[in-house]
Amino acid sequence: MSAAAVEGLAAVEREVAQACRDARRDRDSVTLIAVSKTFDAAAIEPVLAAGQRVFGENRVQEAKAKWPALIAAHPGTTLHLIGPLQSNKVKEAVALFDAIHSVDRPSLAEALGKALPASGRVVELFVQINTGEEPQKAGVAPHEADDFIAACRERWGLTISGLMCIPPVDEAPAPHFALTAKIAKRNGLSKLSMGMSADFATAIEFGATHVRVGSAIFGHR
Ligand SMILES: *Cc1c(COP(=O)(O)O)cnc(C)c1O
Repeated sequence: MSAAAVEGLAAVEREVAQACRDARRDRDSVTLIAVSKTFDAAAIEPVLAAGQRVFGENRVQEAKAKWPALIAAHPGTTLHLIGPLQSNKVKEAVALFDAIHSVDRPSLAEALGKALPASGRVVELFVQINTGEEPQKAGVAPHEADDFIAACRERWGLTISGLMCIPPVDEAPAPHFALTAKIAKRNGLSKLSMGMSADFATAIEFGATHVRVGSAIFGHR
């Protein structure tokens, strides 16, 4: 399985590079986040050994159990939280993660506004947009995004780096990527976390700066 993950990483890296060439973008303008959720340290080690240094997890507790030892063994590794964050886990999240992609509601923004200065840590923040306005999905509705971003900045003192989206599974992703890019642009945000195993090449075409790729690297969960 570990050899398969290293091959998966190499294949994804080739596809990311090709998508960048197709879009006439520098390879350096896209960060590949290897999403290691549900995989244990033994499965992650070979991917670290292959040189990958940016990883994504969707649960604070799972990441806390796996990552401190892996990070200590592989300096320079950064960890991105891509899943929902409960306000009562904010302190732990801020201590462990270098980026949070799921800022999606006032109570969380307020908690981050308190926890971040107290932690002394720099954590890159992305506001999650629910582009498909799916009731079961986290994220700010597109028409509420401008006000929410402004409140994050002015009311809670947060520096927002970019936007994140997860398009509906049963729809073409391109319009969702385009909408996210448009909301980012009008709010002066330069980073776009969009694209997963099935659609990261399209996301790069639409300006993704961070692609979150799990199963194409690690295999089925
Ligand atoms: C699991 C997950 C991914 C990775 O999904 P794959 O289809 O396995 O690449 C990306 N983003 C989020 C928010 C996820 O929860």
